[in-house]
Amino acid sequence: MTVAYLGLGANLGDARQTLKDAVVCLAQQRTITVLAKSSLYRTAPVDAGGDDYFNCVVKIETSLPARQLLRLCHTVEEQFGRERPYRNAPRTLDLDILLYGDSSIDDADLIVPHPRLTERAFVLVPLIELDVELVIPLRGRADAFLGTVQDQRIEKVATCQCPMLAAQRATSDASSTASNKPDTCR
Ligand code: ADP
Ligand code: MG
Repeated sequence: MTVAYLGLGANLGDARQTLKDAVVCLAQQRTITVLAKSSLYRTAPVDAGGDDYFNCVVKIETSLPARQLLRLCHTVEEQFGRERPYRNAPRTLDLDILLYGDSSIDDADLIVPHPRLTERAFVLVPLIELDVELVIPLRGRADAFLGTVQDQRIEKVATCQCPMLAAQRATSDASSTASNKPDTCR
């Protein structure tokens, strides 16, 4: 079994719903256990046009070798109608392998840790939400890269309006401290 982190992103169609459905889809795989899910974030497109993105990161445990995990990611993307008309095109669902254990892979079609992991707030912020002390193989602590992405727009969004979450929000608004903790309910 290997612990891995997958980055999910979408900016076509009902992107918020797609991300929720995609996490359920991953959790239903025999070969995957979803250990944790970050909050949902709304983010500005980076190196691309189109609408804002919704992003999140899931921490999984998997029996799949990295290459088969990539194949599964592509299969799930296709199930959600992913098309690739051109590079960085808007997408119904993007599923990237961010980290796969402490592996370092540099193949033509699979690079892990993900090559742009440390350059993207939409990956770094949810990753660090899941593990504040996360260390990226060969690159060091993930939070050391936060300064380099601080000009990229990213905001945490609510995915549920239950009373518990509303109470948490009210408390954190009152103390007006920017919380990087995951919501208890999302
Ligand atoms: P993007 O780079 O914007 O996510 P795609 O999802 O179309 O674009 O991926 C392009 C290619 O990136 C895929 O065909 C895949 O083989 C390759 N790739 C390399 N490393 C990874 C990784 N760690 N996770 C996902 N795809 C990867
Ligand atoms: Mg991708």
